[in-house]
Amino acid sequence: MKYIMSQLPYEYNALEPYIDARTMEIHLTKHHQAYINNLNLVLEKNPKIADKKLESLIENLDSLNLNDKDKIMIKNHGGGHLNHSFFWQVMAPKKAIDEKLIGEIKKEYGSMDEFKALFKQTALSRFGSGWAWLVRDKNSKFAVYSTPNQDSPHLQGHTPIIGIDVWEHAYYLKYQNKRDEYIDAWWHVLKLV
Ligand code: MN
Repeated sequence: MKYIMSQLPYEYNALEPYIDARTMEIHLTKHHQAYINNLNLVLEKNPKIADKKLESLIENLDSLNLNDKDKIMIKNHGGGHLNHSFFWQVMAPKKAIDEKLIGEIKKEYGSMDEFKALFKQTALSRFGSGWAWLVRDKNSKFAVYSTPNQDSPHLQGHTPIIGIDVWEHAYYLKYQNKRDEYIDAWWHVLKLV
């Protein structure tokens, strides 16, 4: 097996009460694990690309010598693995504030409140399943946007800085249909800001 689940840097219940332990456990052991398993299946079928860095496979998806079905598998399940690995890392039970990043965000968006309002609106306006992101583009400039499904910012050569999973599986047990309450709570467990 090429890809395996990394050890979560905290316990399943470490993000309580904002994200409950049961949601964390199912999210990681069922949803994220399924992306890893399916990614490994498509890489087993295509050993020529199996050693390439996943970010680079996703960024160069169009030019890969793969059939369309396998490209979609890489986009969905490779994206799913990258997105979730990133998501577990941006969250933490204790803040590790990055003052430099906060300074840059304030410079770009006016204030943290204005940034958060934009980010939240972007996350709320994703219809169906997907993600909201703060990324740096190829010129290191910030952008806030949402992607559908498991589409990774790396598809556009962008580097994620902050990202929130707004698939219902990320919040339904605790928040049901109240995505806005989940987003408000999520800032408490976001490590850097
Ligand atoms: Mn998810």
